[in-house]
Amino acid sequence: MLEAIREQLYHLHLELPKNNLVAWTSGNISARDPESGNIVIKPSGVRYEELRPEHFVILNLEGYILEGNLKPSSDTASHLYIYQKRPDVFGIVHTHSPYATAFAALGKSIPVYLTAHADEFGGPIPCGGFALIGGEEIGQVVVDAIGDSPAVLLKNHGVFTIGKNAEAAVKAAVMVEDVARTTWLALQIGTPEEIAPEHVAKLHHRYTHVYGQ
Ligand code: 13P
Repeated sequence: MLEAIREQLYHLHLELPKNNLVAWTSGNISARDPESGNIVIKPSGVRYEELRPEHFVILNLEGYILEGNLKPSSDTASHLYIYQKRPDVFGIVHTHSPYATAFAALGKSIPVYLTAHADEFGGPIPCGGFALIGGEEIGQVVVDAIGDSPAVLLKNHGVFTIGKNAEAAVKAAVMVEDVARTTWLALQIGTPEEIAPEHVAKLHHRYTHVYGQ
């Protein structure tokens, strides 16, 4: 089932180690099939080099496994919770990307100090509270804290990103780490000034409506 989505998720998972967003087997991506509404997700604890399209697990929105021989990601219940509460979301990424996770370790959101941040996120990257792994609690924190942002930090844990498809969520995961790294570097050499909210709004509007082809 859903061969094209499994193939796409396989390629997108390779972007995570390539962009230094994950270590060993940490992190996961899922996608929602727009037609059936079913969810495709990474199997738990499989090395990225060993992942194959046929390893992905397909579930319905209630968590019933429709296809797959491997155990789904330990964050499956949280991914499902997000899909249930956010009908606009068709892709979800979780990472422990290092610079963003350093902010998460401190429970700190990332203020808008850089135009690239304003462009991509249109406001501060929020940090939600702590939640244990395994159930839907992480999903609840994500839904409560993320607002209009495509990315949220989870206190003492890492990053979740959402998107209109899995590729958009992966892009947000790459960009949140890039923003966190440049912000962290700036914080080493001084105290950056936040960009005024009206400028953030203009930058975000230009990037989302005018930028590119
Ligand atoms: P899974 O391999 O089970 O997806 O776990 C990775 C992870 O990062 C859990 O937070």
